[in-house]
Amino acid sequence: MPVKDNQKTLIIGANFAGLKAAAALPPQSGVTLIDRSPRFEWTPNLHEVLSGVTRPDDLMLDRRKIAERLGHRFLTGEIESLDPDRQQLQLSGQQTLDYDTCIVACGLTSHFHDVTGAAAHAIPFRTAKEASTALARLSALLSEKQAVTISIVGGGFTGVELLGELLRRSRNESRLTFRLFERGQQLLEGQPAVVSQDIRKLCAPYSVDIRFGAQIRSVGEETIELENREILASHLTLWTAGTTGPRFIQNSVIEHNAQGMVRVNPSLQSASHPSVFVAGDLAALPEPVLKQAYHAMDMGALAAKNLSHYQQGQTLQTFIPAPKPLALAFGDLNTYLIQGDTVLASPLLAAAKEAVYQLYMTQLSANLPLPEFSKGISRRASRSFKNLLLPELVRLRWLALLKQTRVLQWGGLKDLDNFARGLAGTFH
Ligand SMILES: Cc1cc2nc3c(=O)[nH]c(=O)nc-3n(C[C@H](O)[C@H](O)[C@H](O)COP(=O)(O)OP(=O)(O)OC[C@H]3O[C@@H](n4cnc5c(N)ncnc54)[C@H](O)[C@@H]3O)c2cc1C
Repeated sequence: MPVKDNQKTLIIGANFAGLKAAAALPPQSGVTLIDRSPRFEWTPNLHEVLSGVTRPDDLMLDRRKIAERLGHRFLTGEIESLDPDRQQLQLSGQQTLDYDTCIVACGLTSHFHDVTGAAAHAIPFRTAKEASTALARLSALLSEKQAVTISIVGGGFTGVELLGELLRRSRNESRLTFRLFERGQQLLEGQPAVVSQDIRKLCAPYSVDIRFGAQIRSVGEETIELENREILASHLTLWTAGTTGPRFIQNSVIEHNAQGMVRVNPSLQSASHPSVFVAGDLAALPEPVLKQAYHAMDMGALAAKNLSHYQQGQTLQTFIPAPKPLALAFGDLNTYLIQGDTVLASPLLAAAKEAVYQLYMTQLSANLPLPEFSKGISRRASRSFKNLLLPELVRLRWLALLKQTRVLQWGGLKDLDNFARGLAGTFH
């Protein structure tokens, strides 16, 4: 295909995948980034908002400034519809934008599975705004009521990390009861069962009720009803069970699956519309990958590269997911590093997870003007030192923490090799 001058490229969604794509495209090359919100959000530490270890502001960066530094344009707006046949999209307020090529990196949103009352009474937990809403509701409840029951629906990564953070905050408050409802038979389905078992052991001394095989029938203002008609108190219901693609994808002719994720070939190109590339959680690859920020960023970089190749009629590259370990924090009780079948558990790994957060935020905010960059870095670094590392140092718990470091399960040398390669990729 001949290279056209004045190519217009739109990147829809400016978080992990979208920003990484923008960073991989040359400055002043006709790129416009669009997001409904002006601020980038670092979701992997979102659950810490509930314990007060992290403040929503620490997780955010100014998208417009990053885009301008990269030599691109940024628009704040809600995408209402995508017409991939006419290569057009419409923003709320009827503004229409044409494109020659497009990267869709809109991620997924919470899905209530049509459970009665869930949309009205449960608080989803995927954005900083939702985390702030949950925190405000929790604080109000604690000042209003003597006995409070907090429920988490969904025992995946977000649900488990949320429970850990609630236990960090209030595990010794006897007036609180925590419940976690999981449809399957273990926490973190698809991951080694030892992690689920270890978390249950850690919860045993506290008022924590984990229900497996639980199907929610309805959610009320202060109740949860199960399919077996059991009605339980729930003053705060946090919803982490299930995700779906954005409505404008579901209403579009672009090929997508039942979950509203866009079907792509192994080069992240839409299966139905070759001028559209998809990156991050929204991409339905022939071989599914875990919905993780590091995959989203790698996809963003590759989608940008393949988009340039497509414009120049060159061969596209295949997305190969990096074998990085999964890091799961369970408040201050434990942190797990999972690589294949190997599981390492240690409260000290919290510092490693924090280091990865600091590293990526530094890399991303390196695109900000200098004063803001240094202000942000020093604020984040001092706060995380104060909130995460200092308490452990003060309590002189290092020896005790070291003793708690264990290999919960050993999956063989292959995992060790992948672990080393994953770490090298992270700090590259
Ligand atoms: C609570 C929580 C904890 C997590 N912890 C981890 C972790 O520890 N490690 C890890 O690797 N991953 C973690 N993840 C997963 C990680 O956040 C996702 O994999 C990652 O955010 C996906 O990046 P993305 O760019 O594809 O989508 P997103 O980060 O979801 O970004 C999508 C962007 O598109 C915008 N957008 C969506 N629809 C529209 C529209 N209609 N109009 C305009 N803009 C729109 C949104 O505003 C958003 O900015 C966690 C996720 C959550 C929710």
